[in-house]
Amino acid sequence: MLKNLLAAFILSILFTSSTRPADVERFDVQKLGEGVYAVIRREPPGLMFDANNVFIINERNVIVVDSNFSLASTKEVLAALRKLTDKPVRYVINTHWHDDHITGNQIYREAFPNVEFIGQESAVADIAGMGEKNRKGLQANTPKLIKLFREQVEKKKNLAGQDLTEEERASYLKDAGLLERYLESIPILQIIAPTLTVKDKLTLRRSTRTVEIIHLGRGHTPADLVVYLPQEGILVAGDLVVHPVPLVGSTSLPADYAATLRKLLELKPKVIVPGHGIVMQEDSYVRQMIRLLDSINTQAKAAARRGETLEQARKSVQLEEFRREFAGESQLKSFIFQTYVVTPGVAAAYRQALSGTGN
Ligand SMILES: [Zn+2]
Repeated sequence: MLKNLLAAFILSILFTSSTRPADVERFDVQKLGEGVYAVIRREPPGLMFDANNVFIINERNVIVVDSNFSLASTKEVLAALRKLTDKPVRYVINTHWHDDHITGNQIYREAFPNVEFIGQESAVADIAGMGEKNRKGLQANTPKLIKLFREQVEKKKNLAGQDLTEEERASYLKDAGLLERYLESIPILQIIAPTLTVKDKLTLRRSTRTVEIIHLGRGHTPADLVVYLPQEGILVAGDLVVHPVPLVGSTSLPADYAATLRKLLELKPKVIVPGHGIVMQEDSYVRQMIRLLDSINTQAKAAARRGETLEQARKSVQLEEFRREFAGESQLKSFIFQTYVVTPGVAAAYRQALSGTGN
């Protein structure tokens, strides 16, 4: 049962929750530049996620990057935008097709009937295909997952059967809370796919503002977009960058991922807003991710070349040094690293090595 539930995470991954009372803000709004604000989640790291967002307020209208994992969450984000401006939202850019970045789209459609949803070309098929399948699996399992997290907290045991740390307790309660909010959304949920697609690059010029929407290559998914404001040096990375533990999920392409991050750094951003986690003023964390991804890729390729099976490759690929770098002494972060980097990442890199796709 536990294994199946964890598999359900890894299938569609990427959701979050909170235990804060409704009247407590679940995010901080940080000003990054003139008319540019990041909405940064306050929830602790965990197995479920809600997405960071960015508001780009132009002369006549607003561009929002990503919606959220529940309708309630996007309503709160929109209310925060309303405190900054009464201009209409013209574009919502979905950095990729995972549900923690698109579920709230319908809130923008309801509030702004003319809004366009911008996504990478292949995200449209993925939302309808893999996304739909994963979504159904998650929705069927949501009540069980909520129960699981709450029971572990009561039993004071983590999902690996170890004594629950304070960090894990806060994280599990948050995961249960995020799932409860998602559960409320399910009966009225309408998934909205991109209405405007980008293959490689789309540049929006709005009086003094330039907004570049770029597909740098495959990475976290086959269809990641980043949003770059060249004048301000602000880069919105989506889940290509996730802090404090990266997300190399079952839909990631580890063989391409490091090259895509290198292209991201070639843009020389001054500020990087990750899909989850804190705003970064420098690129050291992205470089750390590149070293990790290079290592996964190189080791998986070597294992495939030696004729190892996936099970053998899982044993021969050594990522302990990186686990210590990303997780430190944290039992929670170590489990996240296992669940969202080692297990799906090694399998995905091994598959790519065998099929000869990627770099
Ligand atoms: Zn995400």
